[in-house]
Amino acid sequence: MSEIIRDEIVITRKPHKCWGCTKDIAIGTKIQCVVCKDGKHIITCYWCDVCKGYMDKHCDFWDLEAGFGYGELRECEGYPEEENRIGGKKGVKKE
Ligand SMILES: [Zn+2]
Repeated sequence: MSEIIRDEIVITRKPHKCWGCTKDIAIGTKIQCVVCKDGKHIITCYWCDVCKGYMDKHCDFWDLEAGFGYGELRECEGYPEEENRIGGKKGVKKE
């Protein structure tokens, strides 16, 4: 069970990675930041414009926040192609 406790646009002061696509987010980027509470854990997710745009378009996604694994958005149907090609990272678990 998780609940969203914060959902706002922030300007990053540290480097982060986008939760949806694992892309690097540079310092000083204006970006969507979502903080969830999952039991005792606080999870902070950052979403780049591409991922945010995808979610806005394709689903009422924000409710599913914690149910979405790191980097998994890239594997979703209809996710913008060019973004799909970054990485090739290992360690992103797929079921
Ligand atoms: Zn992203």
